[in-house]
Amino acid sequence: MKTVVFDRHVLEQEVKPHALLDRYRRLLAEDVMSRLAESDQLKSTGCPGCLSHGGSAAFEKLGMTYRQCETCRSLYVSPRPTEEVLVDFYRNSKSSLFWRERILPETRETRREKLFSPRAQWLLDVVDEYLPKAQMGVVVGYHNDLMIEELLRMEENLFKLLVTNPVADIECDHLKSENVVIRPMPESTLDAIGPSDIFLAFDILDRCVDTDALFSAATKSLAPGGLFVGSTTLISGFDLQVLWDRSESIYPPDRMNLLSIEGLTALYERHGFEALEFSTPGMFDVEIVRRSIQGAPQDDWPRFIRYLVENRDEEALHSLQEYLQRYRLSSFGRIVLRAVGTS
Ligand SMILES: [Zn+2]
Repeated sequence: MKTVVFDRHVLEQEVKPHALLDRYRRLLAEDVMSRLAESDQLKSTGCPGCLSHGGSAAFEKLGMTYRQCETCRSLYVSPRPTEEVLVDFYRNSKSSLFWRERILPETRETRREKLFSPRAQWLLDVVDEYLPKAQMGVVVGYHNDLMIEELLRMEENLFKLLVTNPVADIECDHLKSENVVIRPMPESTLDAIGPSDIFLAFDILDRCVDTDALFSAATKSLAPGGLFVGSTTLISGFDLQVLWDRSESIYPPDRMNLLSIEGLTALYERHGFEALEFSTPGMFDVEIVRRSIQGAPQDDWPRFIRYLVENRDEEALHSLQEYLQRYRLSSFGRIVLRAVGTS
């Protein structure tokens, strides 16, 4: 299995403008409280990684309770809204509209260059290496329009793509290609599609209502030897472990499932996948922690971490980030899995 280390110099603020994010967070807080936390359809759930029940309450965010699994240490929201309520949230809430109409357009070219063009190139390399004869891919995650644009630009003979996320018709209506079919559908019906060769799961594992059902659907949809390719935010990563409830990366509903490395491993192994690559090529953990401590020096922080970020130079902090990548301790995780059997 490969563990990949990145060495790219990308500053976080280039892809996430802070002023817009502040306004987005205010809208999000109002929407989550009124549409999700107060929904009369909340349901309790077990761990999204190992399925254990009875995780202990960790903290609350925007009126919703995060629990931590005592077996694999994944962090997850429970009770949580139904898929129907969640899809309505992503299609119609004020914060979702602000995200689509303000944040995405204003950061479009930066995201294309810094995030989605490299992701598309990586994906083409993965397919070249592991499944060069792929004919059909299913795109189940959110915000994949730029990646698809880049795939179409880079590869003339791209495999066909079926885009299924619940807002695909809104996000991808400008994509005109005979190779791309837009068909938004609930996650609970994904198991009816296929056979496919690649299951593209970017920006979905952290926010789907039922991770186990998502993997079941992938297992049913993929032809033998097919690939599950995706990325997600991992609670085992450095910045989330240090900042915990103070992390701005932990909020419902985008981050309802924060799997640990161990939780994600349990999840894919249970569904008959083997890992071809499982890396944490994140670049921002140390910088996020440094900025958080700098922004609230009066707060109580782990003594050693505070000393480290306040007393070591850029080179030392960069080396720490490389160490986190190398030992799978960053909070940004990326996987390439191969379907080897059914559960
Ligand atoms: Zn667990």
